[in-house]
Amino acid sequence: MSDLERAGDAASPFPYAPSRESTEIVSLQERYGLFIGGELVEPKSGAWFPTISPATEEPLAEVAEAGEEDVDLAVESARGAWERHWRDLPGRERAKYLYRIARALQERAREFAVLETLDGGKPIRESRDVDLPLAAAHFFYYAGWADKLGYAFAGRTPRPLGVAAQVIPWNFPLLMAAWKLAPALATGNTAVLKPAETTPLTALLLTEVLQDADLPPGVVNVITGAGETGSHLVNHPGIDKVAFTGSTEVGKIIQRSLAGTGRRLTLELGGKAANIVFEDAPLDQAVEGIVNGIYFNQGHVCCAGSRLLVQESVAGPVLEKLKDRLETLRVGDPLDKNTDVGAINSRAQLDKITELVQAGVDEGAEMYQPACDLPERGYWFRPTVFTSVAQSHRIAQEEIFGPVLAVMTFRTPEEALVKANNTPYGLSAGVWTEKGSRILWMASRLRAGVIWANTYNRFDPASPFGGYKESGFGREGGLHGLEPYLAFEGAG
Ligand code: NDP
Repeated sequence: MSDLERAGDAASPFPYAPSRESTEIVSLQERYGLFIGGELVEPKSGAWFPTISPATEEPLAEVAEAGEEDVDLAVESARGAWERHWRDLPGRERAKYLYRIARALQERAREFAVLETLDGGKPIRESRDVDLPLAAAHFFYYAGWADKLGYAFAGRTPRPLGVAAQVIPWNFPLLMAAWKLAPALATGNTAVLKPAETTPLTALLLTEVLQDADLPPGVVNVITGAGETGSHLVNHPGIDKVAFTGSTEVGKIIQRSLAGTGRRLTLELGGKAANIVFEDAPLDQAVEGIVNGIYFNQGHVCCAGSRLLVQESVAGPVLEKLKDRLETLRVGDPLDKNTDVGAINSRAQLDKITELVQAGVDEGAEMYQPACDLPERGYWFRPTVFTSVAQSHRIAQEEIFGPVLAVMTFRTPEEALVKANNTPYGLSAGVWTEKGSRILWMASRLRAGVIWANTYNRFDPASPFGGYKESGFGREGGLHGLEPYLAFEGAG
């Protein structure tokens, strides 16, 4: 069927025309070294690896792989900068640097957004409208705190810890860098940041912003590499604090290896959130919230609403509306401004999603996928809904980290609560109902760090984010996000 014929059936009378964002604004280097001591340097390891576009499988650039010696240099550089410049710099001076970084991110937002989409596969609409504004907002927000720490912790005297090792994942590469760097710098710490192997480019572009902001060399160091590099970094004796976002599995390894070292640790790990729809909810809005909850960023979101709990009395209409809505989602070229669901971040992640979806089918759940065409090259997965899901199914228990929703029903609020809390995770949840009292009743009993009411996946730098149970500990964002980077006189 031609596009024109298809258009006859669809809601729009016009044939589909893509609106592709130009990539001209991004100038890629062939190779990127490690950002140590304020400049990009060749790795002592002599090792490099390619970073590719998951939408085309084409290589974008080569990136240095930091070995043990490189990690030593980065930590030394951060330590030196802390002792020479940063530790004793007044908060109002630190704030100026953070404001400069925030403004530069705004000025270069389009360039960063395009690069994020190229390297990670997320829709340009999301990198442009979510990742970039939020990354800048984090720097603005924490710039505001830098000279007010005495007010933030009245009656206590805060002091910085020293050098922070920060390891981040591939789902929100620049935003996670901002979540980590902004509070660390605001509180007077220096940092060594390790971006994920598959998405290093926006953190490397950020180093240009840091240079333009005249940040003293060594205050932020960016070392690229895979899990081994991350492991060298978090186990380095020269660091004072580890902040990690990633899988629960790696979080546990890090926690074990740090036990007894006295180094501070925050872990932001996986999730398997329940998005709970009561019969009195505005159903059309709830369906938008369900879609945003699980298909935003291809479901590569730790707080994704991957389990839909819908009250039995409205399960029929909700599923019907959801399936209709899925037919309208556009899957494909992430640089097309119309795209809703972009590329899966890597071959490995696609394999993991495929395996878990197969497990759902094998265990007897019913799968639904819309009939959308997928590009021939690249890594893609259709938005997927499973019904007839039992709580024991792997798709209801394990984090899939892909565009896959497991639907279950409930009859009473108590049942919804028990089912929602039946998970080893505890990062987030959503509640859809018109009754404020029910929202409060649920929120006070759900074991989740973040609970959205009649909305989903909303983020704000002023609002703390973090988990319970296997979703980790410590909070990022808000006033709470300052504390993991501070010690208090008289306390450790
Ligand atoms: P990882 O936890 O392996 O990766 C997160 C970061 O940690 C990356 O920078 C990674 O490097 C690094 N890393 C890996 N091993 C170690 C180690 N031993 N010590 C220190 N750092 C390490 O997540 P994956 O990318 O492998 O994703 C696997 C699963 O994790 C996903 O399917 C998803 O379920 C979950 N996940 C959850 C996230 C969240 O936000 N909660 C984010 C990302 C993933 P490298 O990239 O090179 O491996």
